Amino acid sequence: MSAIRELDPVTIGQIAAGEVIERPASVVKELVENSIDAGARRITVTLERGGLDLIEVADDGVGIASVDLQLAARRHTTSKLRAAEELESIATLGFRGEGLASIAAAAQIEIVSRQATESLGARVRAHAENVGTAEPAASPVGTVVRVAALFENVPVRREYLRSQSAEFNRISSWLSSFALAYPQCTFVLRHDGKSVWTMPAAEDERERLAMVFGRKAAQSLLRLDGQGASTIDGRLRGFVSAPGFDRPDRRMQLLFVNGRLLRSAVLAGAWTSGYTTFAMAGRHPYGVIFLDLSPDQVDPNVHPTKSDVRLRYVNQVFDAVRRTIAATLNDDAGQRMRAQTTVGSADPEISFAPGQAALFESATEEKRDERSLRVLMQVDRTYILAGDESALLLVDQHAAHERIAYESIVAAARTRPSSEPLLVPQIVELDAEQSAVLDRTIGLLREGGLEIEPFGERTYRIVATPFGYGAKTFDLTGFLDDLSDEPKQRDVRERVWASLACHSVTTAGERLEHSEMTTLVERLQTCENPMHCPHGRPTMVRLGPGEVARMFKRV
Ligand code: ADP
Ligand code: MG
Repeated sequence: MSAIRELDPVTIGQIAAGEVIERPASVVKELVENSIDAGARRITVTLERGGLDLIEVADDGVGIASVDLQLAARRHTTSKLRAAEELESIATLGFRGEGLASIAAAAQIEIVSRQATESLGARVRAHAENVGTAEPAASPVGTVVRVAALFENVPVRREYLRSQSAEFNRISSWLSSFALAYPQCTFVLRHDGKSVWTMPAAEDERERLAMVFGRKAAQSLLRLDGQGASTIDGRLRGFVSAPGFDRPDRRMQLLFVNGRLLRSAVLAGAWTSGYTTFAMAGRHPYGVIFLDLSPDQVDPNVHPTKSDVRLRYVNQVFDAVRRTIAATLNDDAGQRMRAQTTVGSADPEISFAPGQAALFESATEEKRDERSLRVLMQVDRTYILAGDESALLLVDQHAAHERIAYESIVAAARTRPSSEPLLVPQIVELDAEQSAVLDRTIGLLREGGLEIEPFGERTYRIVATPFGYGAKTFDLTGFLDDLSDEPKQRDVRERVWASLACHSVTTAGERLEHSEMTTLVERLQTCENPMHCPHGRPTMVRLGPGEVARMFKRV
């Protein structure tokens, strides 16, 4: 007996709709994107009960001609695409002609619209696969789409929905994020009869950033400079949080590709990679990146809701994002460092290590500068206390040393391997996991100046260490354990180098001479990114007059 049957149109419609319309927020997305495609300058989204009872999107865009209105609600009907070749050059957000039809398959919809050339508008209703006939209706120029009884005919879908307030929050956060890319348009959100928020059209993106990220968080955003984007045929702009202003998750890493708000694992990776030495493990930067590529480099047609895209030159784009972020952060770190510290040498009179005074006499002559930083003393064998006219500075000796070592390892690895042979090679025995990690990274370690040779089963010998660190006994096992714990997303070379830096430098608890402290602080100042160690921890904290006044409860 034959088992295969053709599905009826209503079922086909529901299946197709299921891919596009998952929850109330998907309806809002489809409708708001249509409004943007129609050139709207003002979009008002009105919801009742988290969108479950009503979703209404009203715009002042070009409108739909009365003669087209019935067609607009049908499946595979669009004004945005004529032939398959045009898929290569899509400049609109929509093009599949499925938005309105998919919504109608899952709800009851009513569209009222008028174009500027018409004296009277029209209205049409649609539900499941039935589209009514258009009838005349008074309407301002633009379009209103009203969606009621969402998923009433698809009870399983309704069960998967969260509470009204959760659905509402999802819509609100999607809409405000989306609005970041369309500052020329006013967005209004209303819920249960009340106005929730309004984003007036504004030239100043900062206002919108404040709405999306919160006022305080938005203040810490750094504007990306497009230097790193030379490898791509397009434009890259955006804002990223400064180091230290990160979040526990990636939710607020927003990405627009050609005006579409997307999730992209690849670009999230580029984002993380650009932050490599700035972010603390387990914390994530936030911000927004706008990538505008010529349409033939992007295939938005790989996902039913177009929430992911395929990029033609994905490696170049990855690189551009990574380098732009890294360059912006480096500039910022350099600026902050210069603003905070001008390192000079200690004034012998107030030095807490008077025995060292002679060492600094010559330097003192040249570098006497009122604003210069003085290294005062070591605290708890862990921190270097320094100060200038306006503030106290605490430097974490280990973190600072790590940063310096890291940058010199990276620099050495980029030019030539620079290592110092050990007179007596150090023999180390490893466990199975450690030796597996070592086998994977032995080549990279050599690039970084650490030379290790196999020396029997799970036994190795260290024959050379990175230049300048030869005298210290290298903590190979600690280094390998560290490497296997680290988050995977990071570029493996950078991970190896960061761990190498960490295990080849001064540790906390080590006594430093005054001269060593001064050298350390001076060398830190010349680093590209002086404020953070390669693992993202701060290298120094500053206590300015404001902080001190607060401690003494003067303010
Ligand atoms: P798509 O957006 O992929 O074209 P839709 O089903 O979402 O498909 O919309 C079908 C057509 O209806 C659009 O191509 C457009 O011509 C018209 N349309 C839909 N919404 C609007 C709107 N808000 N303003 C003007 N025209 C609209
Ligand atoms: Mg559409």
